[in-house]
Amino acid sequence: MTPTRRFARMTVSRRNNVASSPFPPDYPGEYPKIVTPLPGPKAKELIARDARTVSQNLSKDVPLVVARGQGMVIEDVDGNRFLDFAAGISTVSTGHCHPEVVKAVQEQAGRLMHVCYTDFFYPVYVDLCEELSAIAPMRGGKRVFLTNSGAEAVETAMKLARLRTGRQKIVGFFGAFHGRTYGAMTLTASKPVQRKGYGPFLPEVLHTHYAYCYRCPVNRQPESCAVECLDLLTESYLHHSVDPSEVAAVIVEPVQGEGGFIPPHKDFLPRLQDLCHANGILLIADEVQCGMGRTGRMFALEHYGIEPDMIILAKGIASGMPISAVIARDDVMRWNDGGHGSTFGGNPVSCAAALATLRLLKGGLTENAGKVGAYLIDRLRALQGRHAAIGDVRGLGLMVGIEVVADRTSRRPAPQKRHAVIEKAFERGLLTLPCGASTIRLSPPLIAREADADKAVAILDAAFGAAG
Ligand code: PLP
Repeated sequence: MTPTRRFARMTVSRRNNVASSPFPPDYPGEYPKIVTPLPGPKAKELIARDARTVSQNLSKDVPLVVARGQGMVIEDVDGNRFLDFAAGISTVSTGHCHPEVVKAVQEQAGRLMHVCYTDFFYPVYVDLCEELSAIAPMRGGKRVFLTNSGAEAVETAMKLARLRTGRQKIVGFFGAFHGRTYGAMTLTASKPVQRKGYGPFLPEVLHTHYAYCYRCPVNRQPESCAVECLDLLTESYLHHSVDPSEVAAVIVEPVQGEGGFIPPHKDFLPRLQDLCHANGILLIADEVQCGMGRTGRMFALEHYGIEPDMIILAKGIASGMPISAVIARDDVMRWNDGGHGSTFGGNPVSCAAALATLRLLKGGLTENAGKVGAYLIDRLRALQGRHAAIGDVRGLGLMVGIEVVADRTSRRPAPQKRHAVIEKAFERGLLTLPCGASTIRLSPPLIAREADADKAVAILDAAFGAAG
């Protein structure tokens, strides 16, 4: 099908808020395509300027300088084309510059760019809150608060949990990532470097084990597992040092992202929910990375049949425009007047981008993520026969992790090898990111086709070979 024909067929029914064909036009050229040594001359120049001026901590795994993006493709300043399996850390859910999202942004930018919802009403804010309430898998009335980033939404949820319950303690998980602000950073326990030097942290936050089955934290075998990883919380903390009536909330990623793309054991989240219900503890699902269709369901928690009291969304919600949200049960989202606010939260342009994104996700991209993701996982598992360094391939939908190990018997993490594979893949035109101790994270836009998965697998095969 030619690009123009595909584009002509793409119409969006705004009445049902669903896209009739959610895919953008095909990219008008060959990809990936590398035409210079990497980094190319223009990229080198920009990287040198960055080194003189930009805050030094923003180090990169590969020297990519982006000029533009379209669909699955990123073009660098020297004309190299990359197949994007990073999607701006799982954010560009509908692909780069999807025409429907661009149109929504342009129209809204021409109408109203800012007025601050703390002070005045505007329709697109309410439209988005209604839409998010309608899709959230929680029974009964719901309310939504719009913010700017994942971390700000996490802070919002933490404040609300303490306010509503009158309790102080909050439980998070080892391996979790919730952001870089003080509350969110306190909850984060992914890598020590993310906390080192920044203490003291928020008081009354404790961490417990996540169901990371490939590296079971309590050394159980899959055959005999009874989710004993939860015992640290139930048998240790709650029996010895923490009265459950003092716990406001448990905040959990339904699939851990930064920690290593880890779908938990199937009984982990339901058991956690039972524990929360039994003790009046709010269950908060951080769907910042795993939500918005990425796992083949709109919310990753739908795979586990749980119903949280709050859901936190960001990243993929608006295809790259900055916005985040906290959805809470109606009776939970009750603030003191003036007790919370945000100047930019729910910016009109970002709201418009989010509404367009939701139409596309509901119009087929979520389903596509499930289908292409399953295909990608199968193809990657087949690669395990060729590369002993592939310890584990796991994921849901297009949230796929390849855990790189020294060997499959010891399962020792091999971060240097992981880095080498990411670099070799980059040299061949595939963008990936690391996560966890030694996992390669594959999180392409949800418009990816099986042909894109085939290209990525072929490049990864060559990259594992070249990495030695
Ligand atoms: N929560 C999760 C699960 C995340 O993965 C992230 C970011 O990676 C955050 C929260 C923080 O989001 P942000 O970087 O937008 O503050």
